[in-house]
Amino acid sequence: MYYTKKRKIKKGPIIFIAVVIFIIILIIVCINLYKHYTSFEYKLGEAGYNEKEIKEILKFDNKYIEYAIENKYEDDFIPLLKQKYFIWKNYDRYIEYINDVYGDKKVDYEKVVSLVNVGADNDPYTHTKKTDMDKEYAILVNKYNSLPEKYAPDDIVEMSNWYAYPDNRIRQTVYDAFKEMSEGAKESGYTLIVNSSYRSYEEQKEIYDDYERNRGKEYADKYAARPDFSEHQTGLSLDIFSPGANMSNFADTETYKWLKDNSYKYGFILRYPLGKEDITGYNYEAWHYRYLGKELAKKVYDSGLTYDEYYAYYLDK
Ligand SMILES: [Zn+2]
Repeated sequence: MYYTKKRKIKKGPIIFIAVVIFIIILIIVCINLYKHYTSFEYKLGEAGYNEKEIKEILKFDNKYIEYAIENKYEDDFIPLLKQKYFIWKNYDRYIEYINDVYGDKKVDYEKVVSLVNVGADNDPYTHTKKTDMDKEYAILVNKYNSLPEKYAPDDIVEMSNWYAYPDNRIRQTVYDAFKEMSEGAKESGYTLIVNSSYRSYEEQKEIYDDYERNRGKEYADKYAARPDFSEHQTGLSLDIFSPGANMSNFADTETYKWLKDNSYKYGFILRYPLGKEDITGYNYEAWHYRYLGKELAKKVYDSGLTYDEYYAYYLDK
């Protein structure tokens, strides 16, 4: 006969395993809770952002998300963040400008970003700095960015009467580019003639002082650049017309239409476009072209931005 021994199940190890599993689950739960409460999503929610806004903010780098968490919720934050040319270091100035200019009115965020990026939230000739000359043909000269004191390029050459009215001088590289553009224009049936080009510090000073003496500083600042702040002093700018045209009618000519859309192929851009006066700080000038080199001129042309805006967003880093 067999005696069946009842197998005794040992409870000890089972309890042990159950406890271990329980502890593991508990640890996982704790880690997840910890992760949740320390997550950017949670913190942004706590800071007052809604789900849609949180999704937007999370697209940015960590340091910006942290900025969003630390800085209390503001109504302008998300609309600003969505602007294509939003620059983080300008954030406080955007807010300040909005408060100063718009008050309770509907805010044009695109315009705010453009103006602040180029420095036009400040008055002209205030908060000025010296432009970065290491950028060579890509330097920025406007009412906030000046040339080094009494700057003069060292490769200025005389332009022939074939291309310019008498007494025009320009940097060699720009002259070569203009000659090429002139050929291109000719092939399309247009003639280009330069009527203003390089202006020395002394010449620019004379023009400015003359205006100031006769009509006052406000008038002078409106119609002439201060010395060291003029693009003509860079030796990279040309005022281009068709023969016989002048400042009042050049914008209506076919030559202008050709120049506006083809000059970038030769390294030039229209520097002071229509409708961008508050960004460039200059009235619309259909005749004023700035040399940037072919590669950069194409990028600026394709961007549809003024050079001031392009520089602020893409080059000033
Ligand atoms: Zn000009």
